[in-house]
Amino acid sequence: MIAFLVLAALSALLFGLNGEKSEVLMLGDEEMNVEYGSEFVDPCVEIVRTGKVFKFMNETELVPAVEQMTTDTLGKFKIHYLVVNDGEEQRFERIVNVVDTTPPAITVTDPEGTEGGSWMNGFSEPEISAYDLVDGDLSDAVQITHLDGKVIYSVADAQGNEAVLERTPPQGSVAPEIMLTGGSDYTFTAAMDWVEPGYSVIDSDGTDLSELVQVSGYVTPYKLGDYTLSYQLSNSRGDTLRASRTVHVVAAERKEAVIPEQKTIYLTFDDGPGPYTDQLLDLLAKYDVKATFFVTGNYPDYYDCIGRAYDEGHTIAVHTFCHDYRQIYRGVQAYFDDFKACEDLIYEQTGTYTTLFRFPGGSSNTVSSFNPGIMGMLATYMRDMGYYYFDWNVSSGDAKPVQIPTYEVYRNVINGCAQYDTNVVLQHDVKDFSVAAVEDIIKWGLENGYQFLPLQEDSYGARHKIFN
Ligand code: ZN
Repeated sequence: MIAFLVLAALSALLFGLNGEKSEVLMLGDEEMNVEYGSEFVDPCVEIVRTGKVFKFMNETELVPAVEQMTTDTLGKFKIHYLVVNDGEEQRFERIVNVVDTTPPAITVTDPEGTEGGSWMNGFSEPEISAYDLVDGDLSDAVQITHLDGKVIYSVADAQGNEAVLERTPPQGSVAPEIMLTGGSDYTFTAAMDWVEPGYSVIDSDGTDLSELVQVSGYVTPYKLGDYTLSYQLSNSRGDTLRASRTVHVVAAERKEAVIPEQKTIYLTFDDGPGPYTDQLLDLLAKYDVKATFFVTGNYPDYYDCIGRAYDEGHTIAVHTFCHDYRQIYRGVQAYFDDFKACEDLIYEQTGTYTTLFRFPGGSSNTVSSFNPGIMGMLATYMRDMGYYYFDWNVSSGDAKPVQIPTYEVYRNVINGCAQYDTNVVLQHDVKDFSVAAVEDIIKWGLENGYQFLPLQEDSYGARHKIFN
């Protein structure tokens, strides 16, 4: 009891002697970053009460922010401190940035896959999931890259924090890829038929699965534009390999027409070869004049004239195989089919293909008007595919339903040729009265300073206006 009293007296004395001052300061930075989802530890404002004499009697008090700070929202926040010290109010504030610097977590389930080397026969590809504290499930965004026998998974969250996980799978437990020959961005020169550049899939056990690939989508090979083809292959487990290809159908390069300096006649003969083609070839040989034959498949007995004409330096070009307007102008495909039959006939007889042709009826024909617009379409497609069509600027008049006298054929041709320096003359070598006029036409031409040439890709096309 006595001891207690003594102590109490002593402390009263000490306090009295001590005298106090106090200091208030904010701990930590005025602006601080806190990771999203972490616990916020408030650095607080500190009040230090200091005795003047007896330092051991110092007292400190921590004052937390007024607000209850949470870290479940990204952003910049302000928190406040209110300090009452010696009856005096003091205010402080602090900026807290809730930030996300944590990358997502990638998880690979069953990382070794199932034993066995065949994707087709069912090893399991591991399941990949990715979770980000802020963005949630990012599994669908995981990028998978195969590199040097490794599989690399990568994903980034909205803040750009990237996670990368590398795995070396056991031999034969990586799904094969559909390899596209020619690449996923493919340029194709317009043609009548699409030619798939090819693809292959080799399973991890070495089995060639290429033939099982399903291709969907289409390319209109003669129509300029971009097309998409999809390739896929599924195994019995329902896993699917996919690839896709963009096909750019582009126009073939073309030659510009070159107009000869000398006056020129291009003799052209349609609808043969026929019964009069041989005698025509004899005549052309006699004058060493080269002409152009737009051939058909209508007279099988005379097919060998095509080979002869070609060997003797004449130009062989496509006219039509069947020359049936309703058949060939029925549609684009029908036209191509007929054209190809004629091309093949030429190939059989000459060993070469040609890019030159003449539309049955000419490009200006209206016999095709039962199929509106067909000539415009065909002219565009054929040009884009690299073919050259030729009309005429001088008609012999031999195509009329009734036969005309040979001298009239002659007169039509020379009157026409007299008007122009460059002439594409239309005749038909299946008409004897027309073939009979050729010798006088050649004589007139030679006497009047014309040269006779066979048509080439860069010859004047004498193209008509298209009406259908
Ligand atoms: Zn014809």
